[in-house]
Amino acid sequence: MSSSHLSYVQPTPESPWGTYLEQVERVVPYLGPLARWAETLRRPKRSLIVDVPIEMDDGSIGHYEGFRVQHSLTRGPGKGGVRYHPDVTLEEVMALAAWMSIKNAAVGLPYGGAKGGIRVDPKKLSQKELEKLTRRYTSEIGIIIGPNQDIPAPDVNTNAQIMAWMMDTYSMNVGATATGVVTGKPIHLGGSLGRVKATGRGVFVTGREAARRLNLKLEGARVAVQGFGNVGSSAAELFHQAGSRIVAAQDHSCTIHNAGGLDLAELMPHIRATGALAGFKGAETIGAEEFWNLETDIVIPAALEGQIDVARAKKLKTKLVLEGANGPTHTAADDILAERGILVVPDVICNAGGVTVSYFEWVQDFSSFFWTEDEINVRLDKIMVDALRKIWDTADRHKITLRTATFAVACERILAAREERGLYP
Ligand code: NAD
Repeated sequence: MSSSHLSYVQPTPESPWGTYLEQVERVVPYLGPLARWAETLRRPKRSLIVDVPIEMDDGSIGHYEGFRVQHSLTRGPGKGGVRYHPDVTLEEVMALAAWMSIKNAAVGLPYGGAKGGIRVDPKKLSQKELEKLTRRYTSEIGIIIGPNQDIPAPDVNTNAQIMAWMMDTYSMNVGATATGVVTGKPIHLGGSLGRVKATGRGVFVTGREAARRLNLKLEGARVAVQGFGNVGSSAAELFHQAGSRIVAAQDHSCTIHNAGGLDLAELMPHIRATGALAGFKGAETIGAEEFWNLETDIVIPAALEGQIDVARAKKLKTKLVLEGANGPTHTAADDILAERGILVVPDVICNAGGVTVSYFEWVQDFSSFFWTEDEINVRLDKIMVDALRKIWDTADRHKITLRTATFAVACERILAAREERGLYP
């Protein structure tokens, strides 16, 4: 692990920040003279911790920990989602912000990297409490966000409604409607067509390209998806449309399996109605650990970090892992997958479709001129394919994994910008 130690976090090899530091370690040999700036990558530029107090429906006062971390602002404003989850910590948000810096640079978007979160179980809050929480959090981090400074977006347990409240709160505070302060907004508030499904679409596009290189036919391919929320379900729908069979799905409620392929036309309305996979009649329920034992062609982790550990990496029977989630694979597990010849398309390129369409949304907001869904999807496809091609060439040239290659492409861009800007003062 890195020689650098920040006094305020204690990363381990499996923790998100520890995983990220190891990924940086591995790319340093490929950075040439730019390596002298590598320490920049190991230190977030700015980390804001805020208290978010709200009056609960029963009259009591609840206090929640909120975070916004700007890992890098070297290539442009900060950009990255906001997560509501009971396990959110500063360390996790730091890693997620850093992965955003890598992702944005890998795809060539003119952004740095940022991420935010609140340590809360939103399922335990009423709609009114959720709105108060969102508005107070937005107001607290309002000193560092803005259309030209740092632009939040949805992540785990946050959605277009939450973005609308964030946009409104920020706008009220600055005295002008500022649609460009967040992305992933409702369409009539300056949102972009195609944004909701963009991350899943990017997972599909990178998966399609990787499958082509592996000579793996998507038609009939067996796909297992962990996390059936925004990213997982959107990716599953596109693989389904391409003729693949979604043989298993897992969410917080249960794991379901159907060797013939899940009927998504029945499953999606069930999820919309109940919020979970549990209770779906068209599949058998299996144990959570069995998910990792299934014979598949493609596995898509699209839930949370740290899901593929060494034990799971040893037993996975698949050809291709598409990291829809951020940081789903421990570093030691990554090595095992590589040794076993299982190709991993890493998060930092695989799930970049969301931020790419967020970028389109931000551009549309600034110009107040909106594109058709077809234009969005065609541009997204091209950006993802071009970015992946460059990463693949880098991987082939240095004989390194796609993950290290993505870091190499991205870190070179970030550190070249750092060098060109120079250090102030
Ligand atoms: P979401 O809240 O819409 O869905 C999360 C899904 O994970 C749900 O189905 C939930 O039930 C499931 N889940 C939660 N805990 C689980 C557990 N312990 N085991 C199995 N499943 C579990 O979130 P999302 O927006 O789809 O994000 C999923 C992942 O994708 C996250 O890692 C996120 O950072 C990443 N991501 C999201 C976006 C985006 O645009 N939404 C973009 C890039 C990356």
